[in-house]
Amino acid sequence: MSNPSTEPEHIAISKSKGIKIDWTDSHRSEYSLALLRDECPCATCTGAHGTAPQKSNYAAEQASPQNLFPMYKPTLRMNDVEAVGGYAIRMSWSDGHNTGIYSFDHLRRICPCEACRAVRE
Ligand SMILES: [Zn+2]
Ligand SMILES: [Zn+2]
Repeated sequence: MSNPSTEPEHIAISKSKGIKIDWTDSHRSEYSLALLRDECPCATCTGAHGTAPQKSNYAAEQASPQNLFPMYKPTLRMNDVEAVGGYAIRMSWSDGHNTGIYSFDHLRRICPCEACRAVRE
């Protein structure tokens, strides 16, 4: 596979559903809110400062049938989203987290579609 494009041609943002990106190589990526939050690239979530990674686990929680008490955690929402210097987007989450800056590089890398997942595995 040649290098995937990391240049978005079109970005559709829904604060309640997630983000869709059409790339310049005509690939389309669809990210759910849970996926985006779980893949937050900031130092806290990834443990980049030598501390234990504090990765969230929204996707797994949503998929869990044992989740008998959905009130325990409020539904994840995106409070705000802004462009950062033309190379990334920054998201603020309803759980108070807002340090994640998602470069288009990173977003392309975490594309959850079957074709991309197959390449990563
Ligand atoms: Zn983070
Ligand atoms: Zn993909």
